[in-house]
Amino acid sequence: MNHTVKTISQPPDIKSLTLPELSACLTRIGEKPYRAKQLYEWLHQKQASSFDEMTNLSKPLRSRLAECFRLPVLRQVQVQESKLDGTRKYLFALPDGNMIESVLMKYRHGNSVCISSQAGCRMGCRFCASAIGGLVRSLEPSEMLEQIYRIAEDTGERISNVVVMGTGEPLDNFDNLLRFLELLTDENGMHVSQRSITVSTCGIVPRILELADKKLQITLALSLHAPQQEKRRMLMPVAAQYELSDVIRACDYYFAQTKRRMTYEYSLIRDVNDGEEDARLLGALLGGKNCHVNLIPVNPVKERNFEQPDSSTAVAFKNKLEKNKINVTIRREMGRDIDGACGQLRKKFLSCQAGRTETV
Ligand code: SAH
Repeated sequence: MNHTVKTISQPPDIKSLTLPELSACLTRIGEKPYRAKQLYEWLHQKQASSFDEMTNLSKPLRSRLAECFRLPVLRQVQVQESKLDGTRKYLFALPDGNMIESVLMKYRHGNSVCISSQAGCRMGCRFCASAIGGLVRSLEPSEMLEQIYRIAEDTGERISNVVVMGTGEPLDNFDNLLRFLELLTDENGMHVSQRSITVSTCGIVPRILELADKKLQITLALSLHAPQQEKRRMLMPVAAQYELSDVIRACDYYFAQTKRRMTYEYSLIRDVNDGEEDARLLGALLGGKNCHVNLIPVNPVKERNFEQPDSSTAVAFKNKLEKNKINVTIRREMGRDIDGACGQLRKKFLSCQAGRTETV
């Protein structure tokens, strides 16, 4: 096992093991290898939340498993549903008591779940609520899966798309992200197709290159937010480490390796990055590339004073990009009334405990 396990003394996390690893573990405790497949199905297809549910395994085996392994389950603490679009935001407690949020979005083409990859985040983007308070810890693969499993159980509906765009920087939790992707797409598990998964990054260049070399068929979304290095650095502290030209080169490499069209995310902020010159430079930067640009009018965050541009400014920005033959959409905001939209996921529960807000 090479994924991050919190302390050495803890028993292994059974839900973060691949099927071959699980088989090896079961052989070691004297069980037949085919038991591993049954167990794996309980964990990842039937999404069991306890060993007791696994009724085709003998009672002695179930108690043996409970002694040898941890079975991490997320506890649903609260759900809010948007009156505007049916988006549901979940507050989950991790086994160690930390809280994370995940969002279910209902589209005509199917249900999409947006998951968190870390509790908190250390990237510090100026417009993002998730960054306030810093990183608490990275999530284990099982804790990323559990967000999807518990939402599937809660709604009883099929989940067709998964986006890793909640709290945290997925490429800052790289090994666990890869293992999560392997488990989620495994035909013996939930079997979500790689093409239905999007991972969003603030642009950690070496990890983008490494991910490209894995040649997965997932979509990579790059949070760009400015076409100039200086402005980007002002909005996103991570840009101080990686030059914009290197970030774009890494994205081109991702496309070259995977043939997956890149998505670029651009939060439009009034009088900050929504001007004609910004649109012109962005057009020049991305023109001729096989990519898609998502313009997201910035969502207000209480602690910041960034504002959305008027819709006419957003449309003019979009038109300018389209003149450069760039594929652009202005993203429909989901769940804005429940703070479920981009950058609004936050540790309300924790701040509530600290007495700073009454809304849980
Ligand atoms: N760390 C990853 C994924 C989480 S953020 C990343 O940076 O991509 C998911 C997306 O929401 C990113 O594009 C992020 O820049 C954007 N975002 C964050 N705060 C936002 C806000 N207040 N308004 C609009 N988009 C925001």
